[in-house]
Amino acid sequence: MRRLIVSDIHSNFEALTAVLEDASGEYKEVVCCGDVVGYNANPAEVIAWARNHADYIVRGNHDRACAGFVEDEDMNAYAIAANLWTQSVLPAADLAWLRDLPAGPVFGDGFQVAHGSPIDEDDYLLSSIDVEPLEYALMRPICFVGHTHHQGGWSWQRGGLVPVSRPVAAEKERVLDLDPDYLYIINPGSVGQPRDRDARAAYAIWDSEERLLYLRRVKYDVREAQSRILEAGLPELLAERLAFGR
Ligand code: ZN
Repeated sequence: MRRLIVSDIHSNFEALTAVLEDASGEYKEVVCCGDVVGYNANPAEVIAWARNHADYIVRGNHDRACAGFVEDEDMNAYAIAANLWTQSVLPAADLAWLRDLPAGPVFGDGFQVAHGSPIDEDDYLLSSIDVEPLEYALMRPICFVGHTHHQGGWSWQRGGLVPVSRPVAAEKERVLDLDPDYLYIINPGSVGQPRDRDARAAYAIWDSEERLLYLRRVKYDVREAQSRILEAGLPELLAERLAFGR
């Protein structure tokens, strides 16, 4: 089975469209690690896609905030402004769908899905120090996460934790041979607001039979996404950061 793995789409319909075109015909199921909405200007379009196509999905902290749960205290003013705007433009049915998203982890055949980490949906996995203690929390050989907007991950191999690297600027993809004896935490990166200094939309394809993982980057129409943000009256900084991937 080949699955499309996406995370942190954040209402960026241009980036999502580019990812879907790039991966077209390559997958049977869709896994989404949360944060469907927030930051960008097309929440309804992105929700419509996720409702119809995500076979496995968990909520992110922005989905939770937009759905009306108590605001995350760590969120900055720009994120909060975008969440309040999102809440004001979405129809009740979309807000109800956001409200009903599971906290995770969600389990599939040979994998699990979480937003932040397998033990806490709000944890940020940024370094091996954050990841090292999670070996015993994994209930499946591979755990897909999002939240940091950094593509890559880690594997537990004999002798310790090894980082999984993402494609560099000149590359379109990195292919990882998955060892059945190892455990993996994989972040497909952010579709709609990458923060690893690469402005291209990030995603992954996981082939469970061939045991291959493709970490990919694809260019999208950043300018169009930026003008939609400005037209919606969202903070300018949210448009600017898309060009820098941070
Ligand atoms: Zn996010």
